[in-house]
Amino acid sequence: MPTNKSVPFVDFKRQVARLRKEIDQAVGRVLESGRFVLGEEGWSFEVDYARYLGIAHAVGCASGTDAIALSLMALGVGPGDEVITVPNTALPTATAISMTGATPAFVDVEEETLLMDASRLEGAVSSKTRAIVPVHLYGNPVDMDPILDFAHARGLYVVEDACQAHGASYKGKKVGTLGDMGCFSFYPTKNLGAFGDAGMVVTRNDVYDGKLRQLRNYGQSDRYHHECTGINSRMDELQAAILRVKLKILDTWNEQRIQIGSRYDEAFAGLPLKPIRPIPKGEGVCHLYVVRTERREQLRRFLEEKGICTLIHYPIPIHRQNAYAGLNLPQGAFPEAERSASEILSLPGFPELEESEQKQVTQAVAEYFDR
Ligand SMILES: *Cc1c(COP(=O)(O)O)cnc(C)c1O
Repeated sequence: MPTNKSVPFVDFKRQVARLRKEIDQAVGRVLESGRFVLGEEGWSFEVDYARYLGIAHAVGCASGTDAIALSLMALGVGPGDEVITVPNTALPTATAISMTGATPAFVDVEEETLLMDASRLEGAVSSKTRAIVPVHLYGNPVDMDPILDFAHARGLYVVEDACQAHGASYKGKKVGTLGDMGCFSFYPTKNLGAFGDAGMVVTRNDVYDGKLRQLRNYGQSDRYHHECTGINSRMDELQAAILRVKLKILDTWNEQRIQIGSRYDEAFAGLPLKPIRPIPKGEGVCHLYVVRTERREQLRRFLEEKGICTLIHYPIPIHRQNAYAGLNLPQGAFPEAERSASEILSLPGFPELEESEQKQVTQAVAEYFDR
């Protein structure tokens, strides 16, 4: 039975409708408080989020990009330094490195997981390397132990980009709590999303915590006393109040994403397309459900004609972006990241996706490969 209803990639209106009452109350609370930056809500959300992850400190900031930049700044990374990450991450991972004055360097990813390949780190370090930024891409935890071992042996810092992995865990510990710092984005599409921009750095280190609090607030220690230059990157009270409401539902949303993922897995068994799977040790949170096929463009067009919205995360590896042409990294420098960029496709998998909508997707995919 053909249907013309289109399937969106994400639909925030469904989420807002469900939460409207609690959100209105939270927003009302902030309006009545008369305090809009660095107040009670922000502090409470930091405490709630640190507790959720099981770590000592959480420091709110304006975005995930800033969270990574602030982390590197707090560790003293700056001009002349190099920071290693992966070429297939969201571009802002590199933006954050560049913001500090440091230069991004890249290490290729593993074919199966599309996550940082620790065995290639040796070839990526130089005398200028100061830190490694593994990315828990698509909500899948990176195999952290080999990376942490490598970093410790060489005196390098590890800053986790957990912007797509709120609530994911690795060997029983939440991602973001494994390195020196863990960075989160609350951009609306993330597993925990604000109604605007917001971010968070988490750390178990008291000194880093204090440093981060200064750096996000123009280096201020006490009123009118500035210890360092810093930047302005604070989470506002409205976003914090909204995120406090939404944090309570994060685990449920993650379960829904994972369930949608396993339904896709089942439906695609036997088809010539490969889902990107988390490493067995990890517990992913299915931020994105990504499949891989050499006929990506054709499949994407076929689904589009059927009203099914898909996206590509991400079509151009960072070293091939004009913004980083200055690094002079040629085509072929990172073969796994480059090959996957032309084969990956993200399917709708937001928690409110209805089963009937998902059926439309799986049937259309099956139809495409049947022809
Ligand atoms: C979203 C995202 C960022 C940036 O977060 P913003 O809040 O948009 O600045 C960084 N890294 C990854 C992997 C992301 O998905």
